[in-house]
Amino acid sequence: MSKTDMSSQAENFTDLGLDYRLAKLLDHQGITCPTEIQAQSVPAALLGHDLIASSKTGSGKTLAYLLPAMHRMMKQKALSKRDPRALILAPTRELAKQVYAQLRSLTSGTQFKAALILGGENFNDQAKALQKDPHLVVATPGRLANHLDERSLFLEGLELLILDEADRMLDLGFADQLKQINETANHRLRQTLMFSATLDHAEVNDMAQQLLKAPKRIAIGEAHTEHGDIEQVFCLADHLDHKQALLQRLLEKESYQQVIIFTATRADTDRLSEVLTEQGLKTAALSGEMSQSERNRIMDSFSRGQQQVLITTDVASRGLDLLQVSLVVNFDMPKQAEEYVHRIGRTGRAGAKGRAVSLVGPKDWPAFKRVEQFLRKSISFDVLEGLEPTFKGIKDKPAGNKRPAPGKQAKGGSAKAKKAPQDRRNRRQPNRQIVSDDGMAPLKKKK
Ligand code: AMP
Repeated sequence: MSKTDMSSQAENFTDLGLDYRLAKLLDHQGITCPTEIQAQSVPAALLGHDLIASSKTGSGKTLAYLLPAMHRMMKQKALSKRDPRALILAPTRELAKQVYAQLRSLTSGTQFKAALILGGENFNDQAKALQKDPHLVVATPGRLANHLDERSLFLEGLELLILDEADRMLDLGFADQLKQINETANHRLRQTLMFSATLDHAEVNDMAQQLLKAPKRIAIGEAHTEHGDIEQVFCLADHLDHKQALLQRLLEKESYQQVIIFTATRADTDRLSEVLTEQGLKTAALSGEMSQSERNRIMDSFSRGQQQVLITTDVASRGLDLLQVSLVVNFDMPKQAEEYVHRIGRTGRAGAKGRAVSLVGPKDWPAFKRVEQFLRKSISFDVLEGLEPTFKGIKDKPAGNKRPAPGKQAKGGSAKAKKAPQDRRNRRQPNRQIVSDDGMAPLKKKK
């Protein structure tokens, strides 16, 4: 963790009001001092407040919501014996799996059961897992909504709804599922914690109004603030071959443990993977179109250090906690400026130093300008000797044709959540087979 993350008042986790058993468990994991997001979120959540919180990636936000959830399990009586007490929603399967792993490290050795419900995996197996009445569920929203539709899950007794990377869930088109989940668990005792990379997102604020009751707002290191542990470098590139030569030089010259390279399309991912493999690098390629088991296999082997290089589209840019990644290369700039922050956040995790190098060609220029605007600073370019670009950037057009700032697009209001649905417990039907959704596919494109 960086110094700024650690600059909290609380020296330890019991100071935050957490049960000593949780503090002891963390101590065994070498986690002794709360990060800033934890220091602010945990006491507010323990007091029962709804929260809307932003914090940069890698700042310890997962524990910022898992700890109050676990504390509640330990200290308060359940509202329902059968329904889950806490539900954690995450936009991607990868992130959900990481949250689940962290949750399991807290529940193991306790009486509390947890379940992981992901799109793209066997529905019936999940229905069976839900029949065992887990206390905590981590899920992607699409599949969770399927279970509500099929009545293999009921949320009337839900006490804590947690939305991780709410902005990303909305960007992926999960607004309807979030509303459905909210309505199913809509009673006055429910507490809701909403985390987002940025609070400067019209749809997030819209959703917050519908889901949260008098929320406390916690903004720590909004996405556009500097990430002190990551050195950011930008290089101009003339064309694809030039980018490839720059990449080759970087991989030769930079010292790194593992590297993630982000490309714009799957075709680029596949092509680069071939080129780098030919150059003798152990390379893995990941894309959204792959099957779940393929993606699992690749991520598992990369996180175990079996490859040096992971090439991917934006699929892997959020939430992944890969501690050995010390270099991120944006072979292509991301379309959305916020995505840039998430991509580079794959390095510099938990206080380690990282380096992010972005290659900016003529096609990347508009995206680069959006990142520059988002970071609120003027960016200069590095030049690699012998690979000087002829492309020098594109001059700004005269004012008059302004696009809105990122996250500022106007949005229409939406309807308030309605009264709680009636109890349908006697109609559980866990064994129906349904077609699996992949939990990742955008359901709606954001303009
Ligand atoms: P997150 O931002 O939740 O993805 O966490 C990033 C990494 O920081 C994970 O590897 C956590 O285990 C680790 N971490 C979380 N809280 C702390 C803390 N208070 N001290 C040290 N490491 C932490």
